[in-house]
Amino acid sequence: MNPSELISALRALTGAAHVLEGPDTTPYVTEWRGRFRGDALCVVKPADRDQVAAIVRLCAQHRTPLLPQGGNTSMSGGSVPAPAGQGTLPVVLNLARMRRIRQVDALNHSVEADAGCTVAEIQAAAEAVDRLYGVSFGAEGSAQIGGSVATNAGGTGVLRYGNTRENVLGLEVVLPDGSIWEGLRTLRKDNTGYDLKQLFIGSEGTLGVITAVALKLHPRPNAQAMAWVAPHSLQAALSLLALAQQQCGTRLNAFEVLNRTQIEHVLAHVPGVREPLAQPAPWNLLIELSEHGQSAPLQERLERLLVQAEQDGLIADAALASNQAQCADFWRIRSSVSEGNRKSGMSLVFDIAVPLVQVAAFIERASAAVRSMIDAARIPVVGHLGDGNMHLVIVIEWAHWHALQEPQALLQRLREAVYAIAAELGGTWSAEHGIGSLLLAQMQQYKSPVELQLMRSIKATLDPHGLFNPGKLLPQ
Ligand SMILES: Cc1cc2nc3c(=O)[nH]c(=O)nc-3n(C[C@H](O)[C@H](O)[C@H](O)COP(=O)(O)OP(=O)(O)OC[C@H]3O[C@@H](n4cnc5c(N)ncnc54)[C@H](O)[C@@H]3O)c2cc1C
Repeated sequence: MNPSELISALRALTGAAHVLEGPDTTPYVTEWRGRFRGDALCVVKPADRDQVAAIVRLCAQHRTPLLPQGGNTSMSGGSVPAPAGQGTLPVVLNLARMRRIRQVDALNHSVEADAGCTVAEIQAAAEAVDRLYGVSFGAEGSAQIGGSVATNAGGTGVLRYGNTRENVLGLEVVLPDGSIWEGLRTLRKDNTGYDLKQLFIGSEGTLGVITAVALKLHPRPNAQAMAWVAPHSLQAALSLLALAQQQCGTRLNAFEVLNRTQIEHVLAHVPGVREPLAQPAPWNLLIELSEHGQSAPLQERLERLLVQAEQDGLIADAALASNQAQCADFWRIRSSVSEGNRKSGMSLVFDIAVPLVQVAAFIERASAAVRSMIDAARIPVVGHLGDGNMHLVIVIEWAHWHALQEPQALLQRLREAVYAIAAELGGTWSAEHGIGSLLLAQMQQYKSPVELQLMRSIKATLDPHGLFNPGKLLPQ
């Protein structure tokens, strides 16, 4: 069969309305920031897992590559194909039509859902039975639960609930030969051999199509207390984190950090956002506690923590949110960082994690390295401090960027310098955004040959013809 026969067969299978070609594919082959653009033979939107399996079999017969796609919110170019001219054009298999919540079990604290449900839809389904899905991040309204599993998304709730990996109980997966692995279990204990679901979590569409997920839920906290805090330094912020963990235990929900430059970018470009403290501070923390119970005791607990922190010489200032609207205002600053940076110039985002003791050293050394290469750069920093996960961002104003002689070479040098510092400090160069097509060179540079060979063996076993999301995650 030639490509047009494959498209006809896909149309016959899903209905013509669910196979897109030509300009209609543009939103599916273009990354959300427009940084990666590719080409596809077509985009197909199956209705259920049996259609997914049939599509996979058709593509396998045609030796046509296939790219599983969720909400296309990837930060690393993983969700769009390569431009034409790099082998056979792939079929993009988009799961947007598969959005059925299959079952919510309040007693078992679990939910089973089609992979195309958005993360926000899973959160809402949990909330409807007074439970909580603990994973939360900026793109949760568009990112699909299947995509978040395929990228092992982290976000702001990792400190308390873990990243996506810790919240997956089971998966249903269509494998590259079209067979279906029925691993949709909601057991908390199952010691029956290799834990296969772990292979697909973080596999970025290279090993199969996740068609359904079973997830852990948690009791839903109904009391919340929040503060915006100015620590004396990043090191003081880490001491406050330890104090908060000691005094608040599992009530500590979020411990996010932003530097002054980051706040300036949000204030300058996001309408309706206000300065949270009377005096601008070099470092800022958003601290959130939550529990099931009354708000007043939680508020008092947070106040006690901050009084102790002040006595210990850790903080210069703090503002407690006194109502829900103020909590929302604090979160709005945090969730607007991408918008603020994007509107400030060309931005290069790093997704670094280092051991907590090295966080301050990393920021200091990486900032100095960046400035030695481009003095005009602004360096907003935002991070999930509780996880040691820092998004150091390099922002270069557009006028300056356009005047640069060799901008791509500069970006390359900046990347190499920052990744080298993270590696020297025992850190990782991709804490939560995955590899996609963006970080293939780092896979080659920093993963050991043994680790890479193991990954390639797994890939070859499951996908011997290399058809699933080629050119992503594993360097050739
Ligand atoms: C504003 C913004 C904020 C973000 N904040 C965070 C954050 O704080 N923490 C964090 O970890 N991430 C964050 N992200 C990135 C986010 O985690 C990922 O974009 C998201 O998890 C991917 O889900 P998706 O449905 O959009 O998948 P896509 O972007 O469509 O795909 C991502 C990868 O998963 C694969 N894939 C998708 N669906 C499936 C499936 N059903 N089966 C197999 N493979 C599949 C794709 O092939 C691709 O390799 C953010 C993104 C944005 C845009």
